[in-house]
Amino acid sequence: MKPALTDLLASARVVSLPLRTKFRGVVDREVMLFEGPNGWAEWSPFLEYPDEEAAVWLSAAIEFAYGKTPTAVRDRIPVNATLPAVAPDQVAAVLARFGSFSTVKIKVAEPGQTPGQDVDRIVEVRKLYPEAKIRLDANGGWSPELSFSFIKALAGQGIELEYLEQPCKTIDELARLRQMIAESSFNVPIAADESVRKASDPMLVVEAEAADILVLKVAPLGGISRAMEIARGAGLPVVVSSALDSSVGISMGAHLAAALPDLRFDCGLATASLLAGDVTRQPLLPVDGFIDVRRVEIDQQKLDIFEAEDHRIDWWVDRLDRAFKLLN
Ligand SMILES: [Mg+2]
Repeated sequence: MKPALTDLLASARVVSLPLRTKFRGVVDREVMLFEGPNGWAEWSPFLEYPDEEAAVWLSAAIEFAYGKTPTAVRDRIPVNATLPAVAPDQVAAVLARFGSFSTVKIKVAEPGQTPGQDVDRIVEVRKLYPEAKIRLDANGGWSPELSFSFIKALAGQGIELEYLEQPCKTIDELARLRQMIAESSFNVPIAADESVRKASDPMLVVEAEAADILVLKVAPLGGISRAMEIARGAGLPVVVSSALDSSVGISMGAHLAAALPDLRFDCGLATASLLAGDVTRQPLLPVDGFIDVRRVEIDQQKLDIFEAEDHRIDWWVDRLDRAFKLLN
């Protein structure tokens, strides 16, 4: 069922949610929310994304608000803690917000920082949480050679990685690094994140043998059903992740993770902890390393508190108009 644009606009709200720590270079996260028969959905393509991409995110939001949700095979999702590229003395405070967890994803290769600063942050995590599984996310910031020497440096410190997420930018580079690892004595799986944005990407990654794991985000893949098909077609283990969403967007990711037959890694859906404000009184925050699979009830007062400025609302309404026209 496809709603009319006026249906979406009838309930649409734009909020600017403050972040606790700078992420992707921003200090707040603008999202549009609207309500359908199933409940609220979030439409929040990053501001710089072109309309074609924003339209794919819109399909996902419309499906979640108006469409059919696949049957869940689990009612809570194991999630990892996420550590932005902070200094070692901030690690304890940031991770404390996640409560208990068994996996931590550490951001590395932040522009302006050195690999040495990354190592210091990782060592601090290992010291504070000796039992935690550690995965790194470089957001494509390293060359295959730098990635490989980094793996070597960590091994020298006795630190093993659960996996390394998007160490390099291109699929070719990922494949080259994976080959280097295969020929070495190290055993570090590679996960593809930014290399999986469009529905056609997973097969490119699989054919190039560029990754062992796929990170799937529901919105950029066009919705839960589409993401389920992609996971099935790729045949690699997947990790469901958020795009720094409000609890509403995270709820959509949780419904995908709940429906996947095989979920062997903790998912990246605990990111509501990175927000200093949310749109509900019951945010989807992790409890004992899990988040619930449920719809999120919106709090009108919070919508008012975090409402974006008028000119930003106009911008989003125009964007919605353009993206809606691109839907087929
Ligand atoms: Mg990532």
